[in-house]
Amino acid sequence: MSANQPSSQLQAFPAHAPRALYIHIPFCTNKCFYCDFNSYVLKGQPVMDYLRAMELEMKHTAEQCPPAEIDTIFVGGGTPTVLKPDQMAYFLDSVRNAFPSWSEQIEFSMEANPGTTDIEKLRVMHAGGVNRISFGVQSFNNNLLHEIGRIHNTDDVYRSIENAKAAGFDNMSIDLMFGLPNQTVEMLEHSVEKALELDLPHLSIYSLKVEENTLFHAMYHRNELPLPSEEDELEMYMIIMERMKAAGYIQYEISNFAKPGYESRHNTTYWRNEDYYGIGAGAHGYAKRERHLNIKGVTPYVEACRSGLPRLDTFRIDEAEAMEDFMMVGLRLLEGVSSDRFAEQFGGALLDKVFAAPLKRLLKQGLIEVTPTGYRLTEQGLLFGNDVFGSFVGLLSNGE
Ligand code: SF4
Repeated sequence: MSANQPSSQLQAFPAHAPRALYIHIPFCTNKCFYCDFNSYVLKGQPVMDYLRAMELEMKHTAEQCPPAEIDTIFVGGGTPTVLKPDQMAYFLDSVRNAFPSWSEQIEFSMEANPGTTDIEKLRVMHAGGVNRISFGVQSFNNNLLHEIGRIHNTDDVYRSIENAKAAGFDNMSIDLMFGLPNQTVEMLEHSVEKALELDLPHLSIYSLKVEENTLFHAMYHRNELPLPSEEDELEMYMIIMERMKAAGYIQYEISNFAKPGYESRHNTTYWRNEDYYGIGAGAHGYAKRERHLNIKGVTPYVEACRSGLPRLDTFRIDEAEAMEDFMMVGLRLLEGVSSDRFAEQFGGALLDKVFAAPLKRLLKQGLIEVTPTGYRLTEQGLLFGNDVFGSFVGLLSNGE
């Protein structure tokens, strides 16, 4: 904790208020070809108006649902690091003002694009309390980066990481992607090797999903997207898991690997189905069994914040759906789901009883196994995670 963070030890906090905060900055230098996130090309955007609107949303949110001590903050996007240093300083001040009580061990992450980080900006981030950076690297092959619409190259990656170290960051993560068009197993192996050479404490490695409303989706339907075969994609995933393990990383979630003690605590909030604030255009939040989705467009969001909370939709999650969510997101964690935590979230309900039928079937298929505290994916289950998670969709909420 930096010396200027407020101490909170003697304060009383509201019971059950979220301890995690997600904030969305929806601007990017350009739009990557596979991206369906709520992000807009930066040029001509009213960035300061947006930051002021988020300040209002944070203020209204803290009034409506007074915060507890905040344990984790994650600033995602978009590309938060497109903010200029003075905009970044303004933004980080507004976060601290609206959510002033931070735990001693706060994990404050910010996503960064290697093409948009310089030492001055990184110093502002560090001074503003950010203590973890997640770089969107995706690949160590420049041709491939170009073909997926990224603006950075591998030199930018090395420079950004050096700059981040010089600015005082030691907790960094990078994202890689596999299953990309024209990516071979050898190319993936090379990227993993290069990533491991950096010796960072955390890596996230995702497979490409061709999402609607992306350039790749249109190309896919025109038969112009040369994706690797399913066998190659499976081989890539197995290589990733093997190399990470050999290098001393713990696979703690389907796509996430960490040196011991460096697991992302913020994302673990989602996987444990716990509450979090969601601030910014298109952000969603979850508190007291209510989920909200914010207005997505920048200008409508800015206007809505002037008169209240910028909600596009707010809906109650009934107990049946929350139980299904608990299983679907919880089984993504390699530690699995805990029967005690289930009982705690659902008034003493017994996980074994509520999900008796799918658990029995998945155990028989060898896709999950029993642990001392509940259930988790087997090695086989890891490869077919979507089948496992799909077993819980609508199971209780549709009355099946
Ligand atoms: S940098 Fe990230 S958020 Fe922005 S367009 Fe690319 S993938 Fe989407």
